[in-house]
Amino acid sequence: MPEVDALVVGAGPAGSVAAFRLAERGHRVLVIEEHGRVGLPVQCAGLVSQRVLDLAGSRAFVRASVRGATVFGPSLVSVSFRAEKERAFVIDRAGLDVYLADRAAKGGAEFRTASRFDRLLRRSPGRSVVQLTGADGTKTEVAARLVVGADGVSSAVARAFRLRRPVEILPAFEAEFPKSPGDPELVEVYLGRRFAPGLFGWWIPDGAGGARVGVAADADGTSARAYFERLLDHLGARFGERLANATAYLVSGIPIGAVPKTSGDGVMLVGDAAAQVKPLSGGGIFTGMRCAEILAGVADAALREGDLSGPRLAEYDRRWRAELGDELSRALHLRRVFTRLSDAELDAIVRALGRAELTDTIVAFGDIDFPTHVARRLLRQSPSLVRLLPKALGAWWSSPELTVPDLEDDTRRK
Ligand SMILES: Cc1cc2nc3c(=O)[nH]c(=O)nc-3n(C[C@H](O)[C@H](O)[C@H](O)COP(=O)(O)OP(=O)(O)OC[C@H]3O[C@@H](n4cnc5c(N)ncnc54)[C@H](O)[C@@H]3O)c2cc1C
Repeated sequence: MPEVDALVVGAGPAGSVAAFRLAERGHRVLVIEEHGRVGLPVQCAGLVSQRVLDLAGSRAFVRASVRGATVFGPSLVSVSFRAEKERAFVIDRAGLDVYLADRAAKGGAEFRTASRFDRLLRRSPGRSVVQLTGADGTKTEVAARLVVGADGVSSAVARAFRLRRPVEILPAFEAEFPKSPGDPELVEVYLGRRFAPGLFGWWIPDGAGGARVGVAADADGTSARAYFERLLDHLGARFGERLANATAYLVSGIPIGAVPKTSGDGVMLVGDAAAQVKPLSGGGIFTGMRCAEILAGVADAALREGDLSGPRLAEYDRRWRAELGDELSRALHLRRVFTRLSDAELDAIVRALGRAELTDTIVAFGDIDFPTHVARRLLRQSPSLVRLLPKALGAWWSSPELTVPDLEDDTRRK
């Protein structure tokens, strides 16, 4: 039976970053991926910040940049924010996954595709034996000192190691269209019960004349696909032609809300498996990659010390929460407030954001990875905006200044 230091389950961005950092530090790393090819099928809109390019150390997978967004309220009242420079990047998501997996393989990690983590067979201090199943149904066993669950929203690793799953998984539906009218520099966001209760709908220019259109919406008896069709109807009416010839459809779920523990004896979770996802946008590439860096730092030390116990690995929980936990919990709080607003209230907020001084603030300080910072600034700047929101936000917006954590501290960028 193969014996490895770290078995990484899942070759998404979080898994491949963790694998790379552990392999380059000299550990024996095996990455298993249930699909036959890394990166496929794509389950993502692929809109990321500069931080993702920095963490990857490449822009090879960037397809386009955008300078801002147009936000539509439920009655289609809208406000646009357009910065002078690029503010976010539309990426070839499969390209990112392949790039990160190649980097990890070059760093010494072994990859096995078409191999699924099935179950945990035995667990003793410092050694877990797990069962893998190949595409043809063949069962094999692997022993690992550490199992890293980077296996996404439905994490089998989290279940096998009895770590709790996120309370909410938001259904999402997206399609890619090869041709679409629309402003190639601005993303469109659609708010409210009419378009996407629970999160929002989006139209993202792909840099090649097409667009990615999707919704993430609460399961209130209406499917995410039905909301998606409604958004397509609206876009068709606005553009004067219905988007057609979709090249890819995507159905998935977005984990919302942190899980209480992301490590235990011989196991660590990262990325969507750990619900390290921004609750206001559903974005999880930056947070997953960044937490994978933190995970690798703690796992490296624990493997060297020969202590893979739950208490030792809990340093990872503490460290990623110290860096990103406040932002994620503030964003979760804000999201709860927003999901309770009526369509009329959301329209009123969109109208209020159209005031020049607030638009300027968003253009100057908007940050897709830390959206609560600009939200707090806006609330402090505009008493009329505060009046539109429930009292629950009162204490928060008057709290002390927020700062983006320094992400450079323990990250060796490549
Ligand atoms: C519709 C939609 C749009 C999104 N848009 C954006 C966006 O624009 N920007 C952004 O930042 N985020 C976006 N996200 C979120 C983003 O896709 C995820 O946060 C991100 O992919 C998480 O990375 P990960 O490595 O943790 O997990 P994943 O990318 O999900 O990778 C997990 C991997 O594990 C594999 N796997 C699963 N189970 C097993 C098993 N038992 N054995 C072996 N392998 C297994 C899977 O095949 C997969 O390859 C979007 C999500 C959705 C659903």
